Amino acid sequence: MSEFSARPPRRHAPIIPIAASPAAPVPGNLASPRLLPLPAPGEDALASAGQPLDALARPLRDLRISVTDRCNFRCGYCMPRSAFGRDHAFLPHGDLLSFEEITRAARIFLSLGVRKLRLTGGEPLLRKDLERLVGQLAALRTLDGTPPDITLTTNGTLLARKARALKDAGLRRVTISLDALDEARFRQMSDSGLSVEEVLAGIEAARQLDLGPLKVNMVVQRGVNDDQILPLARHFRSTGIALRFIEFMDVGATNRWDMAHVLPSQEVRARLHAAYPLQRIGSQPAGETAERWAYADGQGEVAFISSVTQAFCGDCNRIRLSTEGRLYTCLFASQGHDLRSLLRQASPEPDARIAARLLALWQTRSDRYSQLRGTAQAPASGARRIEMSYIGG
Ligand code: SAM
Ligand code: SF4
Ligand code: SF4
Repeated sequence: MSEFSARPPRRHAPIIPIAASPAAPVPGNLASPRLLPLPAPGEDALASAGQPLDALARPLRDLRISVTDRCNFRCGYCMPRSAFGRDHAFLPHGDLLSFEEITRAARIFLSLGVRKLRLTGGEPLLRKDLERLVGQLAALRTLDGTPPDITLTTNGTLLARKARALKDAGLRRVTISLDALDEARFRQMSDSGLSVEEVLAGIEAARQLDLGPLKVNMVVQRGVNDDQILPLARHFRSTGIALRFIEFMDVGATNRWDMAHVLPSQEVRARLHAAYPLQRIGSQPAGETAERWAYADGQGEVAFISSVTQAFCGDCNRIRLSTEGRLYTCLFASQGHDLRSLLRQASPEPDARIAARLLALWQTRSDRYSQLRGTAQAPASGARRIEMSYIGG
């Protein structure tokens, strides 16, 4: 059965071109220059039980933790070499949150209702001894007493070496990014000397260790790697690994984003459907960014992440912690809130006091960038947005 019109589509954000990102290289740290203190707790904040809702009634469930701003790739849509070249100033080691600081922050977030912890970057597997952090996070508990769901997003090149230690430490799942199967196209996309074979070896290691359900992310850029949609689909069909097609997003300020290079999920799906008929999979859980579709012949599933053409801000339950301890309530934010200074104070604030400040931050959150993109309510374009490699996906 063709399912292309079986269910009314989610509310569409209008597909209106917005200005392409400026191309000029920017020296130094590309993080947001605007740093705010965390808000003071409201009078009743300390007394109110966890599980806050934001200003748009969205709960807080998912903490994304960036553990490094460095990467061994230079994907053009994320860390173009023109902006992240040899002289780019990455964060000095002393600025990074320590594993103990990250664990403390995660513990406080879990007390506010967070259930999922995603480690990201930059390339998270470049952070030395990452398994030690995973072990510390795995010992934490959510509000209902269960271990947090710990996941990792990686480009996969170091995964074959690290998968066993990560699994033993308590990592549950991994998502691996792969934008091409063809070697030349892969090298062009990653702008690195690394090979597809290394990523496939990482995926295989994760599969053998049951770090699943395994997902592979492909960022699709029209006219750049859209010729890889079918080869990747063919490769992962029948393997139990879900390939997810991500629309090229206007995140950051260096990737020369242009609507002309966005291939809407609907078009990706149509191309795929012509080769391998698809059926939509039931209802999506709240907060889920990916829309799942199954191969009609039972050979697995794929998913579409359509941040540009089908905004999913309505149930966005994610907050992001940068490598240096700044909090961002939206991927497209241009200002962060300073958590690190609270974690590093000479006379430390008790966890409950920091929790109350985080509660106050979440309760005033009203971000919905993707929904507003291209509308009159869209935030002014003057403020510099944070880079994806700094804050993580
Ligand atoms: N280095 C790791 C990786 O590539 O998986 C983790 C960090 S990366 C920033 C996280 C995810 O963001 C990846 O799946 C990547 O493809 C995606 N991403 C980065 N820039 C993007 C963009 N401009 N549009 C859409 N997805 C993007
Ligand atoms: Fe590195 Fe991931 Fe960004 Fe590519 S998408 S440059 S692998 S951080
Ligand atoms: Fe969430 Fe911001 Fe993305 Fe909307 S644009 S889904 S609020 S991160």
